[in-house]
Amino acid sequence: MKAIGQYLPDLLQRVEALRAQGATQTPKKPSAEDSPAFDCPLCRDEGIIFYPERNLAVECKCQERKRVQRMLKSSNISEEFVHKTFDTFDVQSVDVRVAEAYKLVKEYSDTLVARVKKGQGLQGVPWLGILGKSGSGKTHLSTAAVVPLIELGVQPVFFNWVSGFTEWMAYYNIPDEAYKVDEIRKRLYNCEILIVDDVCKESQKDTWVKEFYGIVDFRYRKGLPIIYTSEYFEDLIGFLSEATAGRLFEKSRSAKTGKKYIGQMFLGAEEDPLLLNYRFKDLV
Ligand SMILES: [Zn+2]
Repeated sequence: MKAIGQYLPDLLQRVEALRAQGATQTPKKPSAEDSPAFDCPLCRDEGIIFYPERNLAVECKCQERKRVQRMLKSSNISEEFVHKTFDTFDVQSVDVRVAEAYKLVKEYSDTLVARVKKGQGLQGVPWLGILGKSGSGKTHLSTAAVVPLIELGVQPVFFNWVSGFTEWMAYYNIPDEAYKVDEIRKRLYNCEILIVDDVCKESQKDTWVKEFYGIVDFRYRKGLPIIYTSEYFEDLIGFLSEATAGRLFEKSRSAKTGKKYIGQMFLGAEEDPLLLNYRFKDLV
């Protein structure tokens, strides 16, 4: 075995050589290669891993994850919602109505997943309504229904009634951005599956209701599914018009089996108003 001292002269020489080199070069700008901060250390964000000894290049496993993340972003589903899956929904200690809605939504989602796996699209599938009191888990269930589809490459669009329409209408007031209205409308009209969360919440402005009719009617005629959630049920007829609500309800029934896909989590008049609200769970 050689003592460490024997390596030393060689090492010192190399350090000197590097120094000399450094002195004659302009400082290098930090590049991606210098930065240790890669999202994926496996492929250093190249997306591909090379195995030169086997003359082989394979796609890195981070790519699938990144595809899903990109799709979530363009679906308007925030990181926070990605975790709203069937697994994270507490179905053990909830009211029977919530458990029933869970079952219905899970079955609906499974049916869609099976279709996509068989290479059939989503055109012609029934629509899904998730209706109920605030806090009963409507948004969680609607997100849980589509996350497995996203993993299969389906691109849903998530549209929140209040924030979505507020943003939409704001574009009309920015002269250079009015064209974005058409982009939004096109996406909502044509996407593979649309989720409209909290229909009629807070406001039923004429402009909103009219635009919503356009979306519903277009998708109704094209057989493109909508998942809608709302705190209202019968009231939707008054708020939206019979034409719009009628199309929503009519489509939420399987043409094949007649099964109704409207989950209902409402209270009786005598019941504790907070009974179905998970935010107050264990407090009431
Ligand atoms: Zn990678």
